[in-house]
Amino acid sequence: MNMIPTTRTVGFQSGERNVFFHILTACNLSCQHCYINPAQHGTKTLDRETMAAWIELFARPGTPSNLIFLGGEPTMHPDLAFGIERAKDLGFAVTVDSNGYLFHDLLERTSPDLLDYLSFSLDGPDAAVNDPLRGEGVFEVCTTNLRRAVAMGYGVSVIYTVSSRNIDHLERMIPLLDELGVRRFFIQVIGLRGKSAQDSQEAVGGWQVDPGHWLRVVPEVARAAAARGIHVTFPKVFLDPGETFECAGLAADNYFIFPNGRVYRCPLCEDYPINAYRIEQNRLVKNHGLMEDSFFPLQIPEGCVMNRLLQPDNIVYDQKGRPEHCISCCLLKQEICPWV
Ligand code: SF4
Ligand code: SF4
Repeated sequence: MNMIPTTRTVGFQSGERNVFFHILTACNLSCQHCYINPAQHGTKTLDRETMAAWIELFARPGTPSNLIFLGGEPTMHPDLAFGIERAKDLGFAVTVDSNGYLFHDLLERTSPDLLDYLSFSLDGPDAAVNDPLRGEGVFEVCTTNLRRAVAMGYGVSVIYTVSSRNIDHLERMIPLLDELGVRRFFIQVIGLRGKSAQDSQEAVGGWQVDPGHWLRVVPEVARAAAARGIHVTFPKVFLDPGETFECAGLAADNYFIFPNGRVYRCPLCEDYPINAYRIEQNRLVKNHGLMEDSFFPLQIPEGCVMNRLLQPDNIVYDQKGRPEHCISCCLLKQEICPWV
């Protein structure tokens, strides 16, 4: 019997820790929608000892914990393989999010036993869609290295950042993923951070996808991918009527760490100096005053307070001034698992 995969919301897992670790901000690419903001995140590359000390700072062996190495381009760090090993030793499930260039022979210097997932960013099903967004020749390099990683037994996934520039090509990712042998697909929505925040103020039409367009395309593509045996995760974006709003800043144990020592609990806040914590002399220190966590407990009909403050154009109101949708936490995901 053929089962139709169903979509489920992945609630925040209490007790599970997620550490998003930016070990440098440098990158070989300059994607049009890059969210790295050197004015806020610095230009530093952590040295090997500091990287190890900060991994240790967030480790809780024996408790489910995930560590995601990010940049910039994390594979440009010459000690990434060492960092992966250290994180694994301390009990983390380890992921690297890469633009696909895989510098410093990463595939040869680590192993599928140490690295749980290697995620490749692709923003189009072919070079014609991907390369104007990510750079000339990037599609070719990324897919070639992805094939190599699959052949060497690595667990791989693909991340597709949906914007107005590529949403209508999302569907064509399914045959590509099939052909590449990718069984995990993360669809994310473009955030108004870094370069896309600046551009959208200047460019008519901007980067953002309107709610109707998102709801018409993304859930349908996710279902079609799941029917082909691909596990798909995508952001909830809008809560269903009656669904309870939760802020990950209160309900989850997430840390977004930058090499200048800033530690955020909410990724929407990363363009502002309102980080709840900082790292000083390899110790985690609480920041006091009006910081991001001052806003988390506020309850408003629009849902996420930071969305209301930073991206008010995302919210549509009815004639009585009530929001038509309640915006979910940007970290709340839905998944369709073909195996359940
Ligand atoms: S690969 Fe990532 S860090 Fe590099 S330019 Fe693109 S979005 Fe920015
Ligand atoms: S995105 Fe909104 S709901 Fe989620 S952690 Fe940030 S402030 Fe809280």
